Amino acid sequence: MDRSITRRDVLHGLAAAGAGAWAGALLPKAARAAESAAGADAGYPPAWTGMRGSAPGTFESAHALRDGMQWPEAADSGETYDLIVVGAGLSGLAAAYFYRAQARPGARILLLDNHDDFGGHARRNEFALGGRLHLGNGGTLMIDSPRPYSATADGLLRELGIDVPALIKKGQLPEIFDELGSSRGMFFDRETFGRDQLVASSKGKSWVHNLQDAPLSAQAKADLLRIEEGKVDYLAGKSSAEKKLFLSRISYRDFLRDIAKVNGEVLAVYQSHTKGEWGVGIDAVSALDCWGIGSKGFQAMALEDGEIPRMGPTPAGYAATGGSYRLHFPDGNGTIARALVRSLIPAVAPPGDIAQLVTSRFDYTRLDEAGAPVRLRLNSTVIRARNAAAGTGAQAEVTYLAAGRPVRVRARNCVLACYNMIIPYLCPELPAAQKEALHALVKTPLVYTNVALRNARAFHKLGVSRIEAPGCYHTGVFLNPIMNIGSYHGPRSPDEPTLVQMHRTPCKEGLSEHEQNRAGRAELLATSFETFEFKIRDQLGRMLGPAGFDPAADITAITVNRWPHGYAPEYNPLFEPELPPAQRPHVVGRARFGRISIANSDSGGAAYTDVAIDQARRAVDELLNDAGA
Ligand SMILES: Cc1cc2nc3c(=O)[nH]c(=O)nc-3n(C[C@H](O)[C@H](O)[C@H](O)COP(=O)(O)OP(=O)(O)OC[C@H]3O[C@@H](n4cnc5c(N)ncnc54)[C@H](O)[C@@H]3O)c2cc1C
Repeated sequence: MDRSITRRDVLHGLAAAGAGAWAGALLPKAARAAESAAGADAGYPPAWTGMRGSAPGTFESAHALRDGMQWPEAADSGETYDLIVVGAGLSGLAAAYFYRAQARPGARILLLDNHDDFGGHARRNEFALGGRLHLGNGGTLMIDSPRPYSATADGLLRELGIDVPALIKKGQLPEIFDELGSSRGMFFDRETFGRDQLVASSKGKSWVHNLQDAPLSAQAKADLLRIEEGKVDYLAGKSSAEKKLFLSRISYRDFLRDIAKVNGEVLAVYQSHTKGEWGVGIDAVSALDCWGIGSKGFQAMALEDGEIPRMGPTPAGYAATGGSYRLHFPDGNGTIARALVRSLIPAVAPPGDIAQLVTSRFDYTRLDEAGAPVRLRLNSTVIRARNAAAGTGAQAEVTYLAAGRPVRVRARNCVLACYNMIIPYLCPELPAAQKEALHALVKTPLVYTNVALRNARAFHKLGVSRIEAPGCYHTGVFLNPIMNIGSYHGPRSPDEPTLVQMHRTPCKEGLSEHEQNRAGRAELLATSFETFEFKIRDQLGRMLGPAGFDPAADITAITVNRWPHGYAPEYNPLFEPELPPAQRPHVVGRARFGRISIANSDSGGAAYTDVAIDQARRAVDELLNDAGA
């Protein structure tokens, strides 16, 4: 529980921030238009700034399919493969890797993805700042999971040259957020708390001890200290098992308000505490699940280690095992995606070890070469996947859109490693119960934004590297973790250019988790890049302005990674029935369908890289172990 940073730590807080005083001139157009990079970077998506992730142009066809659009008869490409993989995220890439390794080394494989870059959420963002390459993760942050990586997932990483324990031991990748003494700050915004005020931790002293100037009542300050460090058993007299069951039936918000009886201002401080892990606030997460990820208030409640069935997979895993090893590459798990692509299509990048891979530039023109055994086709939304009719010489047929026109490709096998909730539209002939289960797999929307700054002086002056902003548009703001590997190194002084990450999870307090996800997704897709830019400038100006930060001068580029379909859905005991594992929607939904099997982290019921890999393995095994393969 005292581990320094995980996916869940990087983002906290939410509520709408009003328009502020920082609405100065927006970035020069070249720095903000989507696909802004020109010249040498024109064909190189990692360097593109503006609205990225699910960028405009990548998702509209899929939504049209959902809304009943019919396309003309597909043109037959004449292409046939051993395997077609729909979705070139980590699961799809791993499926291609496993299939090739197990079926036969020369297997012909086609990967199709609707995005303009590969990796799915494991997206790499590049910036050239001050004459140096700066890398950031556009999504999947790090190797870190609630349970140890399986032999399959760990084995794949090792085969790719990613020996996690060895890399950790080598110390090339220091603890994330070591920079600036890893100090955290809490930003109280005027819309929520009455006055803008940043409160920083000081050496060995948590922010909760530095609340003298915070715009909070004396009662709220005392309550915060009690929750963070107090020794109160709020359910004295009950056994650990009774307490756990009770806490699994109430939200963390209800626990704080009704059981710990904190002041209402304290609820506003904690409201966004769970957003990094679940994308929703403390009203939609159980108190027990919060205990499982190390939230405060439970320290004197004598809750015994271990999971119970009424826990989501993330807290259950951490409570039971303490979690996996942890490693962050400069581009997050983009390095894993790149290692997989280079292994499958060696022509895209020079050979070399994993450190060399981090800085190597991929040649995107080599991803889809005629004659290559493995081809990766971007900007290709799949609209149909079916088992082929007898006599066609193939067993699966897939239709995708090439520049808006439907094209048919054939294969012996197909793995759907795409978002599982789209599968009923791709395969309308699936059994009704399976389609119903797939429809239930509502993903969590998230935004990970990388902002390039001229320097980090304001952070340095304020003594913070991570700021939680529970009432702001972006609830988590932090300096890009400094990672040194091979020839790549992070900034060495606050005077150098740096990246700042800003996170937002749109949602709607008070609804069920999935209703919040749907509302957040709709909001996200309706939000322009200009709105993001304005909110970023306003928020950074208000948080860092007292230290001399000037958004107009200090922000040099912005990449908004928008993920309307982000985290895979995980079991939430507050809103879902406690079903036996075999009856859970992700299990019912992933059943093989003839020559089509289903991967993606969605089908593992947990939003993690190792889950995406394990599900790829299962999906490939289902195809290869079947007599018809
Ligand atoms: C912001 C963010 C941060 C995260 N951080 C972490 C982390 O630190 N550690 C961790 O372990 N996990 C993290 N995750 C979870 C992450 O989702 C998984 O680790 C993993 O990257 C998921 O891989 P996947 O292949 O299952 O899915 P995806 O990455 O979603 O890949 C699926 C691909 O299929 C494509 N697709 C969908 N429909 C179609 C279609 N019809 N036609 C063609 N292509 C289609 C999608 O566009 C996508 O590119 C994070 C997720 C997000 C969104």
